[in-house]
Amino acid sequence: MITVEEILNAHDLRNTGCRKFILSELLKNDAALSENELKGPYPDLFDRVTFYRTLKTLEEKGIIHRIVLNDNSVKYALNRHHQEYEEMHSHFHCEKCDEVLCLSGKTKFEAELPKDFIKHEVYVVIEGFCADCVHQS
Ligand SMILES: [Zn+2]
Ligand SMILES: [Zn+2]
Repeated sequence: MITVEEILNAHDLRNTGCRKFILSELLKNDAALSENELKGPYPDLFDRVTFYRTLKTLEEKGIIHRIVLNDNSVKYALNRHHQEYEEMHSHFHCEKCDEVLCLSGKTKFEAELPKDFIKHEVYVVIEGFCADCVHQS
């Protein structure tokens, strides 16, 4: 299993406390995490600006990606697209427990863009219930 240090080294990033914290939280979880979920029981460990900048740096370096949900809240997940995930992939959002997962497999998106439009990203979020929530009810 890859470590936080290996990820930072591979991207020529210094090992700061905040980078380390965010990456280790994401490595521990299969699900995507919001800013508050990342901070968990330590909401004041890093100031807001540091935390936000760190997320931005990690995103710009292609280490993590953001997932914008239908209510406009944002969650973050590690990029693992060199393995099982395609670069453009869908996400699943559980309406009950709010868990967000990256889905493997290519997102099929067939819309035609008007002339001269350029596509940067496609967000697809599938809403539903995760297996845990289905089996609970
Ligand atoms: Zn659920
Ligand atoms: Zn994802």
